[in-house]
Amino acid sequence: MDFEPLVLPGVDPARPIVIAGPCSAETEDQVLDSARGVARNGIKLFRSGIWKPRTKPGGFEGVGAAGLAWLKRVKRETGMYVAVEVATKDHVFEALKAGIDFLWVGARTTVNPFAVQEIADALRGADVPVLIKNPVNPDLELWIGAIERIYGAGLRRIGVIHRGFSSYEKKTYRNPPMWHLPIELRRRLPDVPIFCDPSHIAGKRDFILKLCQQAMDLKFDGLIIETHCQPEKAWSDAAQQITPEALGGILQSLVIRNADGLSEDLSELRCRIDLIDEALLELLAKRMNISGEIGRYKRSRNMPVLQSSRYSEIIERRAALGKSMNLDGDFVRSILEEIHEESIRVQMDSE
Ligand code: PEP
Ligand code: MN
Repeated sequence: MDFEPLVLPGVDPARPIVIAGPCSAETEDQVLDSARGVARNGIKLFRSGIWKPRTKPGGFEGVGAAGLAWLKRVKRETGMYVAVEVATKDHVFEALKAGIDFLWVGARTTVNPFAVQEIADALRGADVPVLIKNPVNPDLELWIGAIERIYGAGLRRIGVIHRGFSSYEKKTYRNPPMWHLPIELRRRLPDVPIFCDPSHIAGKRDFILKLCQQAMDLKFDGLIIETHCQPEKAWSDAAQQITPEALGGILQSLVIRNADGLSEDLSELRCRIDLIDEALLELLAKRMNISGEIGRYKRSRNMPVLQSSRYSEIIERRAALGKSMNLDGDFVRSILEEIHEESIRVQMDSE
């Protein structure tokens, strides 16, 4: 595939290209206030959802086409480029007719090839940048399939947005990032710019800075950050939106790693190690929770905590597994002994 850069006149293509604006357009005043705030912080690309896909009926489903006039006003008054999410052919026709500058396809749409094809068909002949969010489920082929459908309609300015993936487990992030998936997408389609959406990954504003920095360390091309003039009063995604001032602060404190050659590769490798360490710790925490449950189970049935046959079996089986993965046997044994010791402590302390 032969992609073209996303370039929009006047937008600095240097990393990070930042898109900011509220989750949803709520009122004309809220859109304009938020837009003026982000523009004051140097932002050139404004986002705002007007058709909102909500998990359950009855929530705020967006102001609909009425919001297009507000976005035109944002364009006129601030000079920013404006974007909306499109999920049907009618959204595409209305957005293009209103002169919306770029579009994004939401995570709940990318999962559905019929919907993506409908959007692609409606876009045929248009020359507008389109950003495709990852599907809510961690399926790289489905994500790439959506890119191919939009590309197949003749569009060449295509980017992707990494917004994390749904997970059933209770976890730190609303949508865990599973960084290996966008990294693999980069390997498969090196010319497609990747934006990180820390807002939908995090679900909470406190994590936005850390996620932005991780995205920069992984050489993502841009960021799309939900920014609202009064985040705590937002009609959707209130917990994850930030003020324009907070956005300015985050962008100022980001360290952009641009060194060429070896050192850049090194920082990317270090970042991957950091992410793996985090994943290891999360797994250990999960394992200890289960140990606590086992402790309660044994107590309720009057069983002793230590069952040495199970312990020896664990060590032997895991040491063999480690060996098959080229891990040193003594190393695996010593880690397992530490884990087991802590697990016994947790079982004994469990209430
Ligand atoms: C959004 O960007 O407002 C949105 C609905 O996000 P997602 O499709 O990632 O859930
Ligand atoms: Mn949102």
